[in-house]
Formats: sequence, C-alpha cells, structure tokens
Amino acid sequence: MSGIQLAGTVQATDQDAALLKGLFIDGRWSEPSAGKTRVITCPADGARVTEVAECTSADAREAVGSARRAFDGGAWPGTSEKERGKVLLRTAELLERDKAVYARAEALDTGKRYVEAEYDIDDIAACFRYYGGIAGTDAGRVIDTGVPGTISRIVHAPVGVCGLITPWNYPLLQASWKVAPALLAGNTFVLKPSELTPSTSILLMDTLLEAGLPAGVANLVTGTGPEVGAVLSESPDVDLVSFTGGLATGIHIMKTAADTVKRVALELGGKNPNIVFADADRESALDNALTAVFLHSGQVCSAGTRLIIEESIHDEFVAELVRRARAIRLGGPFDELAETGPLISAAHRDKVHAYVQAGIAEGATLLCGGYIPATGAEALGTYYPPTILDGCHTSMKVVQDESFGPVLTVETFSTEQEAITLANDTAYGLAGAVWTHDGSRAQRVATALRHGTVWINDYHPYVPQAEWGGFGKSGNGRELGLQGLAEYRETKHIWQNVNPQPGHWFEPPHAG
Ligand code: NAD
Repeated sequence: MSGIQLAGTVQATDQDAALLKGLFIDGRWSEPSAGKTRVITCPADGARVTEVAECTSADAREAVGSARRAFDGGAWPGTSEKERGKVLLRTAELLERDKAVYARAEALDTGKRYVEAEYDIDDIAACFRYYGGIAGTDAGRVIDTGVPGTISRIVHAPVGVCGLITPWNYPLLQASWKVAPALLAGNTFVLKPSELTPSTSILLMDTLLEAGLPAGVANLVTGTGPEVGAVLSESPDVDLVSFTGGLATGIHIMKTAADTVKRVALELGGKNPNIVFADADRESALDNALTAVFLHSGQVCSAGTRLIIEESIHDEFVAELVRRARAIRLGGPFDELAETGPLISAAHRDKVHAYVQAGIAEGATLLCGGYIPATGAEALGTYYPPTILDGCHTSMKVVQDESFGPVLTVETFSTEQEAITLANDTAYGLAGAVWTHDGSRAQRVATALRHGTVWINDYHPYVPQAEWGGFGKSGNGRELGLQGLAEYRETKHIWQNVNPQPGHWFEPPHAG
C-alpha cells in the first residue's frame, strides 16, 4: 500500500517518508510547489490521523497538464474498452484485498463506524466490477440512412480530461462513481477529494497503478475548493467537470465552468420525503424511518429527513420513533457498541444546530436531541444526538434547506394527494420513499414523486446498475448505470459514402 500514516497503523515506507502525499502526477507522487500541509483529524475524538500536502492552484494546473498529456498522447483512449475494463476488474480485486486498510482510512477520516466503512469498500469494489463487467458491450449503433451506398454509424469517444470533485461524507464511494466510468470510457482525470477526507483517494492512486493503469491517466491534487478545485472548473484544458457536493458550490462551479463550455455534471443535496401511510407494516416503517435519517448521522445526500405521516397514526408512530431515537448510541469508528458516529466537524455541527434552532423559532416542537453534548466522551468529538422536530410545515427553513445532520422533521397528511404535494414541495429532488400495503397506491405515489430514486417499502438500497441522480436542484447529472457511463462519452456520427459522386449543387463554371 501507499504508506499513508493512519494513526500509526500503517507504516510509511522509506520512499514515502520524504514525500508528503497529496500531489500525484505523471504516475508518481510529486512535491507540491508550496510547503504547506494539513493535519487530518478524526471527528470522533480529534485524534491526528495523518498529514497531507495542501496543494496550490499551480499544483492543480500541473495535475491538469499531466492528464492532458496522457489524453492527447492517445495511449489510454486508444486502448480497447475491453482492455480498460480489465484494469477496472483488477482494481476491484485489489480493493477487496486491501479492504481493511481502506476501511480504516475511511473510518478515521470521516469518524464513521469501521463496519460501515467496510460496507463502503464493498460498494466501491462493486462499482469498479460493474463498469469493468460491461466493457465492450455497447459499441454504438448502425443507422439505416435510407440513402443507397452509405454506411452510417454512431460510435463513442471519450470526452477528454475530467475534473472530479468529491465531498467528505462517502469520500471514496463518490470518487468511484466518477473514476470507474471515466476510465472505462477512455478519459484521463484529475481527482480533487474533500480537504477533510483525502486518505482513501490517496490510496486509490497506488491501487490504480498496481492494477495496470498507465502513468498520467489518474492524477490527484489535495487542497481546498477555492484554491485547487476552482482550477478544475475553470481550466480550458479540462473538458468535463463532475462535482458532488453542496448546492451553493455546485452553482458556483457551473458558473465558472461556463466560460470554457465544458461539460458539467452536478450531484447535489436533497430534502428527501419518507411518506408513511396508515396501512404500512408498522415495524418495518418505524425501523426504516430511523435508518433513513440517522444512518451516518444524517450525512447522506439521500437521507430521509422529512417524515410525512398519515395523521391517524401520527401520535403512536412518532412517540415510538422518539423512544428509539433517544436510545441510539453514538461513538467512534472502533466503538463496538456505537450505532452511528459524529458529524464531520465542529463547524458543520454548528450549522446543523442552527437549523434546529431556526425550526424551533418558526414553531416546530423539539421532541428529542437538539443540543451539543458538553460532557463525557461525546464532548471530545463533534457529535450531535438524533433530533426530531414535530409540527413542521414546508415553509420552514429546516424543512426546505439541507442541514445534512441527524435532524428529522415531521409533517402530517390526510389524503394521498396531500402526501404527494408535500413530498414534492421542495427545490430538491434526489430521493424519497413511500410505505403502504396498497400496491396501486404505491405505484401512483412513486410515479408522482419528482425525485430521482423512489423506494417502495424500503429505504436506502442502491445498486451500481441503476442510475442515481436528482431532479431540480439535486443536480443535472446521473451517476451509475449506463447513463453514468454516457456522462463520460462523446457520441460521434461517422457517415461514409461508398460510391462518391459529384452532387452538382453548384454548377462548375464553364472553362475559359
Ligand atoms: P461542498 O460543496 O462543501 O464540497 C464538495 C467539494 O467541493 C469539496 O471537495 C470541496 O473542497 C470542493 N469545493 C468547494 N468550493 C469549491 C470551488 N469554489 N470550486 C471547486 N471545488 C470546490 O460539499 P461537502 O460539504 O463536502 O458535501 C456535502 C454535500 O454533498 C451535501 O450537500 C450532500 O447532499 C452532497 N452529496 C450529494 C451526493 C449525491 O449523490 N447527490 C452524494 C454525496 C454528497
């Protein structure tokens, strides 16, 4: 492995010791232009995890240059898709081989439970395996032009150099949804992970090289968004920028990318409705309502943060939900009793807390949580307890804005149409769920919801074969599935006239 320092569990190699990782260009770790570094700490207890280079915009331009040379050199785009698929399949194997190292790095950077980080690595390997597995299965198509003596084909070409910008909640998972299809399509890339959680993206560079990826195809630059991320959206040498993160950043990226007319794919936030009808299986709906919102302490773009519940079961359902939410155990990555972890930072926790306070000020009733722990082990990390606000309505800030924390708002309905109207009353449109035993109603509601993923009697599952993305302000791209690959492809029409003849549109002038 790369030798990144992970709380003393992975030893730095001699070669690594001289080089603080963060800038990976032309297939090797390079020295960043300024001597700045960033200490990564675990949000569970503030312990030092590792230290990485804090790169500059000049470093980011170097990384773009490396990706540009690798693309224009033509070796990687020129290989067959089958060959590229083999590198992805090998990457999946290596991720599984090194799962413990990856999971530990992810858990320490994010503070999430180690077991959850293990699931993440499984999902990441599955993503590489899916795209490796479909290599060569879609060579384009032949068109019947209706014109005798012509051959017409639609073929795929890579877009070029891709700038990939990722968030901190599922650091390598979000990166894999971009890296795997980008590589399969024959692109080269520069990855910029969140400055808070760079470790697994650093590890991935060495894994890709070991899997056989040629030098220069994969590049990495660590640092902040405004310093290094901005280069990826602005540079004329980047042909596509794919961004996963917050709405405000996404809007900024789209504006700055406009000058170069590069492709922009945005995967943004959500305010996801979880609709429960009175006839739903009570135990499953309760259990999943908790997981929907409190998994990873609500730091999930598709978190079911809005419980929309039929009035007749509101009191009983919500009372039991509160009882269970109060019992959720918080703890660090290796606390075997913990059920969920901390928020990513103190600044983020303050933001979440401010949303809760705004909700109360607007008339919501706080049923549980809603405070910053001041004593005990929880005070050492950036924890925030599962929080439920009742009596909410769609005009409230806490219902409309994504707090990205463990905060559930409760709204009630009495008719199917009212439930649909409430669920769609959001600027976002990423995901949502409906719970009912009435199969026809389930289909009607799922069809009416303006959200990119709808679960019926379930919450959270996804598979790499199925597209993921949002309606409205949840984004304009799709990841995973065939459309997730199409994002990284140009389509080209090749027309051939097998028997060329003059058309005489313009009559040639008479000689002399
Ligand atoms: P963020 O927008 O703060 O940062 C995301 C990335 O953008 C980071 O790498 C950051 O350094 C970079 N960045 C910041 N400013 C930039 C700039 N000016 N130019 C270029 N890059 C810049 O988001 P976050 O707090 O890291 O992540 C949380 C958000 O991500 C939530 O809104 C969540 O819903 C969203 N998210 C969406 C999905 C999805 O699939 N739709 C998945 C995961 C997370």
